Amino acid sequence: MTAIRIDGKAVAASLRARVADAVADLARDGVVPGLAVVLVGDDPASRVYVGSKKKMTVAAGMRSIDHMLPAETGEAELLALIDRLNRDDDVDGILVQLPLPPQIDASRVILAIDPAKDVDGFHPVNAGRLATGQPALVPCTPVGCVMLAKTVLPSLAGLDAVVVGRSNIVGKPVAQLLLAESATVTVAHSRTRDLPAVCRSADLLVAAVGRPEMIRGDWIKPGAVVIDVGINRIEGEGGTSRLVGDVAYDEAAAHAAAITPVPGGVGPMTIACLLANTVKAARARRGLPEVV
Ligand code: NDP
Repeated sequence: MTAIRIDGKAVAASLRARVADAVADLARDGVVPGLAVVLVGDDPASRVYVGSKKKMTVAAGMRSIDHMLPAETGEAELLALIDRLNRDDDVDGILVQLPLPPQIDASRVILAIDPAKDVDGFHPVNAGRLATGQPALVPCTPVGCVMLAKTVLPSLAGLDAVVVGRSNIVGKPVAQLLLAESATVTVAHSRTRDLPAVCRSADLLVAAVGRPEMIRGDWIKPGAVVIDVGINRIEGEGGTSRLVGDVAYDEAAAHAAAITPVPGGVGPMTIACLLANTVKAARARRGLPEVV
């Protein structure tokens, strides 16, 4: 069996086009959604992410409001900025790029963001709303995972889904979304016994571990759909490096019905879903229903 390669770039491009249409609709009523992105310090990877977010926000017709703070910024100063952004009517979404420097407690910062502007979906109010089936801003990468799965599985109801990883930003919200889709969900982690056997029970396997190619071909149930969230840089010869997922792609593709590549799978969905969340927040703050 050769698996379908799920094209995250194409799915993300079509979502961004829908977002741009929704932004154009709002513009006709004089509303231009604004996304505030806060970066503390000069971590090179974070700078790249923030740069792409800004570019795509503007390309979708929205305003990008950047706050680049020095690495030595204190927690009180950052909390004061968030307070100002919470109260600024022109700001619909607030994103604080993680990780933060060690002098700042990330959980306190997340808690300070107005849940209505929490486009990363990390605030406990949004996590609780997701878990209790209420309207919520949901973390972007998990939403992207479910969208990609649905390109090959129109209904997830009744499927056995296994999520490997239980972080607050990926594993847990993916599990909640799959449960909301009526899948039967197992969440595996570093203490799970016989992980290969657990994975082999999955009709839908989501890998969010952060360990290069840990999930092997013979862990995949024949005909399963595999969503690989992992982004791992491995060093090659002569100073080269390449990105690989948490799943050994070629091996897994020999067993799976469909699989996401790394790069080009889940990765491109994250920013597209962030833009969609910004439109959702902008509409919800004005009492308008969700459209993308
Ligand atoms: P975390 O490190 O926060 O969580 C990793 C999870 O994997 C933990 O729950 C951990 O278990 C589990 N785990 C670690 N080792 C094993 C093992 N040997 N067997 C089973 N489970 C294991 O990572 P994140 O959730 O933040 O990210 C996961 C991956 O997804 C990373 O590669 C990251 O780069 C990528 N990522 C990609 C994004 C994108 O595409 N845009 C966005 C976010 C993340 P335990 O809880 O027991 O420690």
